[in-house]
Amino acid sequence: MTDSPIVRPGAVLVINAGSSSLKYQIVDPLTEDVYADGLAERIGEKTSSIKHECGGREQKIELSLPDHRAAIAKVMELFAGDGVNLTQAGLVAVGHRVVHGGRSFHEPTLVTPFVREEIARIAPLAPLHNPPNLVGIDAVTELLPDVPAVVVFDTAFFHDLPAESSTYALNADVAKEYAIRRYGFHGTSHAYVSRRAAEFLNRPYDEVNQIVLHLGNGASMSAIRGGRPIDTTMGMTPLEGLVMGTRTGDIDPGITFQLARVAGMSIDDIDRLYNKESGLKGLCGDNDFRSVLERVDAGDEAAELAFGVYLHRLRHYIGAYLIELGHVDAIVFTAGVGENAVAVRAEGLKDLENFGIVIDADRNAVRSPEPRVISTDDSAITVLVVPTNEELEIARQSAAVVDGG
Ligand code: ADP
Repeated sequence: MTDSPIVRPGAVLVINAGSSSLKYQIVDPLTEDVYADGLAERIGEKTSSIKHECGGREQKIELSLPDHRAAIAKVMELFAGDGVNLTQAGLVAVGHRVVHGGRSFHEPTLVTPFVREEIARIAPLAPLHNPPNLVGIDAVTELLPDVPAVVVFDTAFFHDLPAESSTYALNADVAKEYAIRRYGFHGTSHAYVSRRAAEFLNRPYDEVNQIVLHLGNGASMSAIRGGRPIDTTMGMTPLEGLVMGTRTGDIDPGITFQLARVAGMSIDDIDRLYNKESGLKGLCGDNDFRSVLERVDAGDEAAELAFGVYLHRLRHYIGAYLIELGHVDAIVFTAGVGENAVAVRAEGLKDLENFGIVIDADRNAVRSPEPRVISTDDSAITVLVVPTNEELEIARQSAAVVDGG
């Protein structure tokens, strides 16, 4: 094995393959050193692009990438240009993010032919997500056959939700036949952030009750009692729950019948409408929260309504989880919006003094990549901002599987 000057042995290559994108990072799970980071986008379209950073050098290239295999081959070529031969870099694992683990998977798992088949079998549960994840697994395995591949599931953290929280009041026979239950997503982030929050508070993980708000383009909230999630806002798919960048979150299922019967829309049309053309974008035309907030500040009515609907839903779930948990030690904000949007945190937790939640305006205005408290010292519930790091969590979990296996 050749020692690489840029990527030191012991690192994990983390792969997150979306339908037309491929995110990757090489990170040491112990030292947390990030050796490389990149994103290939618009795979399969006329012009694709790769943003690649390795050893402090950043490159942006436009090229044609017909599929994920081509993207990964090109990424390996870029690494070679940086002087890094991935087959000899001493990688301990490739950690693949897989969105849906269905009922089969509740922990990170070494990829075997059986595991691969099982992920393919449950793909109908997440038709937009699992197939590209599988393509990523196959393509990387082909190019790096000697590095153990591990799959880390977005749903795993929520696998053991209490039955009353994971069960829909849907005909039980139908639900059983089609594996319909609330699975929850963003689990890697909720797990990482909740552990980090307990560490930051210097409290044992299993003694802290927390509400975690992962507010990115996709958004979800979880209620965690002593390290065990008891509820989360996403369900059978990532569509349920909070208002998101382009997704509806909770809506009356009757709307689906109405759109099919009266508007004559197909199931695919409705799927696209709910997933890609709704949420903040559907309400005001913008799904980037920075633009929404700028427009709110300028008095734009559509943006004000979108922001209002977003906050209304968020506060609805804060209330629900305060009651479900009974006692809450911490409320934790994370992801792009949660970490950066001062107004979302301020408005989301406004006027909740009677519930023991008091935000300190100055602390809330601080911008920092570090975990921090934004509540007052006498707030009964501590409110925190804890930056998420899904790649590091995937790397840690993947390395642990390889170590243990
Ligand atoms: P995802 O991983 O789901 O694509 P991220 O966690 O990266 O999303 O979050 C993306 C969102 O975070 C976008 O809506 C973006 O506008 C928002 N965001 C990023 N920085 C800021 C900021 N400074 N203020 C407000 N929103 C921000």
